[in-house]
Amino acid sequence: MNSGNSEHSTVFLRLEGPLQAWGDTSKFVIRRSMEAPTKSGVVGLICCAMGLSRVAARERLAELNGLAMGVRIDRAATRWWDYQTVGARTGMTTAAGGVKTGAQGTLITRREYLADASFLVALQGDAVLVERIAGALQKPKWQLYLGRKSCPPSVPVFARPRQDETWTNPMAGKGSLKPALEEVPWCPRYRGDAASDGPINLPCLIEWRQTNDTDIAPDEAEVWYDAPFSFDPPVHHPRLVMRDAVTVDVGAALQHRTPPPPRPRADYRNSEYKRRRIARLESDHGLCVFCKSPATTVQHVTYRRAGGDEEQDDLRSLCRLCHDAVTMIEYGMGMGLDRINPEDRQWRDQIIARREEIIRFRSLETRRRRLSAEEVE
Ligand SMILES: [Zn+2]
Repeated sequence: MNSGNSEHSTVFLRLEGPLQAWGDTSKFVIRRSMEAPTKSGVVGLICCAMGLSRVAARERLAELNGLAMGVRIDRAATRWWDYQTVGARTGMTTAAGGVKTGAQGTLITRREYLADASFLVALQGDAVLVERIAGALQKPKWQLYLGRKSCPPSVPVFARPRQDETWTNPMAGKGSLKPALEEVPWCPRYRGDAASDGPINLPCLIEWRQTNDTDIAPDEAEVWYDAPFSFDPPVHHPRLVMRDAVTVDVGAALQHRTPPPPRPRADYRNSEYKRRRIARLESDHGLCVFCKSPATTVQHVTYRRAGGDEEQDDLRSLCRLCHDAVTMIEYGMGMGLDRINPEDRQWRDQIIARREEIIRFRSLETRRRRLSAEEVE
């Protein structure tokens, strides 16, 4: 990239959420997603932050496309399909101004999403432009979304490389994306994602740019048709992307992470709690209060006195199956301190239904495992 006399710097974006969708060239009934954020998606997000409409963006696209983009895949996605209907009975407005109605006035589309992914995006280029983008991301004019409007981010999109640093990263100000992506510690989406505190190797997608006329793109460079030339109508130009990997630290990122809210639960090492648990099991004759199978666990009906101060009536003996069924219902309802009393008749049908669901799922799993074991043999 020809830097001229202008200063270069980098802005980092964190693109993370339950769902993301970075559309590829499929525009019709089946809409797929690329495996990582596209340049048109990221530039579109920046236009949203700046409050630029599709038409107003036209004059700024050349400048925004001039930024080089690198993507680090911090958490690869699980691909997921959504069945969607468009324009029930009302029809759909066409580009020509007419109204298109399907056989029943409804169009069916399938849309692909990336579930539970996390990406770190680095944009490099002119320092003044990068500063404007950083400002807009911190105070976005319009709602930001991850590729589709139905995909809100779950963390702020503007990512600081370090807490005590400004957004300008002097280490990465040399027009090189790889050192920039190496600068920011890995940020696990869930605590369980970090297998160890040691450095981690992460895949990344780095835009390849010609630095002088004699540069030839490497054979392994991929062509992504995602450099936005116009949003209205959508026109994309090709861009070259190289697959690479970076090794980054883990520890620092964990400290930045908001810890998950503490789940109200008893301290199982507490001797007083252990005593009350045993007393409750004895009073239930070691049997599940719901199905009368041998009890393996004790469930809290309320967590209000949990941690050693609970009364015997706060607890109920349960077998593993009934315990899992009750827990599923509780999670589904997002219950707080007061939980399900499995002896209460109002829960009876739901517990039975959940138990059957778990048994069906388990036998399915066993069959699957048996089948894959046979395949190995
Ligand atoms: Zn039971």
